[in-house]
Amino acid sequence: MGVGFGWVGRKVMTKETVLIVGAGHAGFQVAVSLRQAGYAGPVRLINDEALLPYQRPPLSKAYLKGAGGAESVLFRPTKFYTDQAIELVDGHVVAIDRAKHSVRLASGAELPYGHLVLATGARNRLLDVPNANLDGVMYLRNFAESEALRTHIKAGQRLVVIGAGFIGLEFASTARAKGLEVDVLELAPRVMARAVTPDISAYFERKHREAGIRIHFGVGATEIEGMNGKVTGVALSDGRQMSADLVVVGVGVLPNIELAAEAGLPVAAGIVVDAQLLTADPDISAIGDCALFESPRFGAPLRLESVQNATDHARCVAARLTGKPETYDGLPWFWSDQGNDKLQMAGLTAGFDHAVLRGDPAQGAFSVFCYKGDRMIGVESVNRAGDHVFGRRMLAAGRSITPQQAADMSFDLKQAMA
Ligand SMILES: Cc1cc2nc3c(=O)[nH]c(=O)nc-3n(C[C@H](O)[C@H](O)[C@H](O)COP(=O)(O)OP(=O)(O)OC[C@H]3O[C@@H](n4cnc5c(N)ncnc54)[C@H](O)[C@@H]3O)c2cc1C
Repeated sequence: MGVGFGWVGRKVMTKETVLIVGAGHAGFQVAVSLRQAGYAGPVRLINDEALLPYQRPPLSKAYLKGAGGAESVLFRPTKFYTDQAIELVDGHVVAIDRAKHSVRLASGAELPYGHLVLATGARNRLLDVPNANLDGVMYLRNFAESEALRTHIKAGQRLVVIGAGFIGLEFASTARAKGLEVDVLELAPRVMARAVTPDISAYFERKHREAGIRIHFGVGATEIEGMNGKVTGVALSDGRQMSADLVVVGVGVLPNIELAAEAGLPVAAGIVVDAQLLTADPDISAIGDCALFESPRFGAPLRLESVQNATDHARCVAARLTGKPETYDGLPWFWSDQGNDKLQMAGLTAGFDHAVLRGDPAQGAFSVFCYKGDRMIGVESVNRAGDHVFGRRMLAAGRSITPQQAADMSFDLKQAMA
């Protein structure tokens, strides 16, 4: 069963409780997939947030823009959990007792498990400079933070965004559209540098600048400035100073691995799991943002932060627990909405050695087909959903087209997919 700790994942018996820690995308999906696969035993989903389980992507997109109330981001209303006999437990897990097969909540309550699924996700990486805790320095990971930002941002305010990654840029573009003065600081020489190819960075940099966002490369914040406990500005690493009413920090996340580590499970850049998403304990799985999984597809351990990864992991674990063990082999894909542009990515482009464009960035619709040798490894698309679908299908099937075909707009992708 792939690279692993030597366990073959076992089916859970109907009397056993599947206990899920964390009710984000991964945790919610395991519960749903277990029921869809016909598991009739107890399923408990531990939720440490103040809201029913909800989707994160809208927090930096539609919800932030002001569309809908809290119910618009929920996966499902309360009735769904009752109907599906998925028991939602409010609480935060503070310890796992592997010998006793139980977890302890902050309230002191103990909950038993037959199989435990760690779906603890990730948390904001905090800005480590003086005065970073002043009022007006904000983050965007959970519903409460999105809600606070949504009510906080007002036209005319001066905003400094620290970090030009997906979250920072999605927030910056929404804030700019609402009439804020926006500056973005980025240590790297281009936007979203860790995740996308230079062509995509260049396109989004241009679009954000055209919208009136000022982007500063090669600089970071060295100190947050304030008065009476409130932020008034940011000191930059190049000696400049910027006034600010609001500072939003988007400098990445840290996986929530401490619970697993304290229980003696191996952790590294995530909770270490094998290609079946099992930890070193055959009765504990880990999935989603918190999991560092062995990937036969990429031949290396991976930790990804995406809805696709969280939900496909969840489906794989639910299948194993209901008697259909499989090696996890999902194809990574991702999207980001910035301004009026939709970026969609299929595959992983890290390590590509050449890329070709299909379509024209100047026209606002193009894709970057990335190759390693003669193998297509990833497709990044801006406002070309058809190319994205093509990329996903072909890459999932391990198929490729040549760079010449990719660049030739008369080459029919639909036919190539057939
Ligand atoms: C603002 C924003 C926008 C995003 N946009 C996109 C997008 O456009 N496309 C995309 O693919 N991905 C996007 N993502 C990423 C995506 O949302 C994450 O990859 C996904 O949420 C991961 O799911 P998860 O279940 O692993 O973790 P999470 O969704 O983080 O859920 C983990 C849950 O576990 C809880 N928890 C942690 N520790 C404990 C404990 N000890 N006890 C109980 N509960 C615990 C946490 O509070 C949390 O509720 C976005 C993320 C954010 C924050």
